[in-house]
Amino acid sequence: MQQMKLIPKVDRVLEWEGVRALALRYPRALLLKTIRAVLDRLREDARHSSLAPEVFAEASIVSLVGRELADLSAPSLRRVINCTGVVVHTNLGRSLLPQSAKKALETMAFSYSNLEYDLKAGSRGSRHSHIEALLCELTGAEGALVVNNNAAAVLLALSALAAGREAVVSRGELVEIGGSFRIPDVMRLSGVTLKEVGTTNRTHPRDYLNAVTPETALFLKIHCSNFAVIGFTAEVEAAELVRLGNEAGVPVMADMGSGNLADLSALLPQAEPTVQQFVAAGVDVITFSGDKLLGGPQAGIVVGKKPLVDAMKKHPLMRALRPDKLTLAALEATLALYRDERQALIEVPTLRMLTAPFEELAARAKSMVRQLRRRLPDGIALSFQEGSSQAGGGALPLLELPTLLIEVRVPGLSPNDIEARLRNGQVAVLGRISKGAFLIDPRTVQDTDVADLAAALSALLENPHQG
Ligand SMILES: *Cc1c(COP(=O)(O)O)cnc(C)c1O
Repeated sequence: MQQMKLIPKVDRVLEWEGVRALALRYPRALLLKTIRAVLDRLREDARHSSLAPEVFAEASIVSLVGRELADLSAPSLRRVINCTGVVVHTNLGRSLLPQSAKKALETMAFSYSNLEYDLKAGSRGSRHSHIEALLCELTGAEGALVVNNNAAAVLLALSALAAGREAVVSRGELVEIGGSFRIPDVMRLSGVTLKEVGTTNRTHPRDYLNAVTPETALFLKIHCSNFAVIGFTAEVEAAELVRLGNEAGVPVMADMGSGNLADLSALLPQAEPTVQQFVAAGVDVITFSGDKLLGGPQAGIVVGKKPLVDAMKKHPLMRALRPDKLTLAALEATLALYRDERQALIEVPTLRMLTAPFEELAARAKSMVRQLRRRLPDGIALSFQEGSSQAGGGALPLLELPTLLIEVRVPGLSPNDIEARLRNGQVAVLGRISKGAFLIDPRTVQDTDVADLAAALSALLENPHQG
């Protein structure tokens, strides 16, 4: 209780030299709020226990206020060094954009643009026009449309094409993607009645045909995303479903999830079908994400038959789901690289990381360890371990991509301590723990990350006993 008297008044604190310096850098309201918060906390602590007298000293309080202001003003969205090896890591922002998107983003962000203006005609244009031709050229589709994300694309397609009617879906494809996106819920939300057919592991052509009524608006095929049905299974492939749709007079929609435009079958032990294959098979409407395997910005892409795509463009939901100009700019720049697939494989970071062969990753791991050892103090032990990385982003869940992992050991710190301290460091570093070891997967570490990674690892030796 005696200590309460040691807590200064706000007015006094404001006169301190160190706080006057902070007042030059931070807005006054924020400064006041922070001082009050720091003093309140001190008061609270003093009520419960007897504190060391230094805690009430001017220097200590100024330093607390300064640190808190710096924390408060730092952006909440921050860079993370991804050492997990999960290429399309949904929690870490999914795909890194290709460098060619940088200029497009800058132009669109800081200049006026022809977003909705037709420069040739001198009249109002449509934001859909910019990318539609490119998407049609790349996929062979008649029409194309971009929305905010693939969840929006599915919602819009179902609302525009099947509201008040029925869509037939295999029980093996009624998936939850995560983040509460469940196919049955999205169907209900769009006013579409779900007609489940087949069983969890096996669905046959006759199951679809037997479900057709005058109310049937769509046969819907859904990519199983981060889930796989293996063993005694049967599914109706897209081309077969199109044949059934033609027979029954029912259009076919496919939610492909991670939209893949590059043929990766020669480069990966398992590959997703491409959007082009689904278009060629005659699927009427196809939806996919822009930031999964495609490697662009967050977006939902629809390609398909022109009348159906046009019906979606005219739907009232379109306005609520439309993409912003920065998304369109980044997407156009990413898609342009796919005109030459070899170029896309080199310049789209998601594709490059995903298809990096073991030899390249081993060379990268060794070069990283050489660079890190030069910068790191003795005491941090680095060693190699063979392992595998994952694609992520709800694509290829069973795929294991061989890699060479770097194990980090620090005397006095457990793998969990290392993980927590790197995560909370100045530049956040996320790795993984497997079988009692803290591991760095070079597959997702960028060349420009190595210096900061070295700094983060060096910092592990500061106060190593503060877990
Ligand atoms: C990821 C995914 C979605 C959702 O896509 P977002 O772009 O994240 O909105 C929908 N369907 C499938 C099959 C998916 O894999």
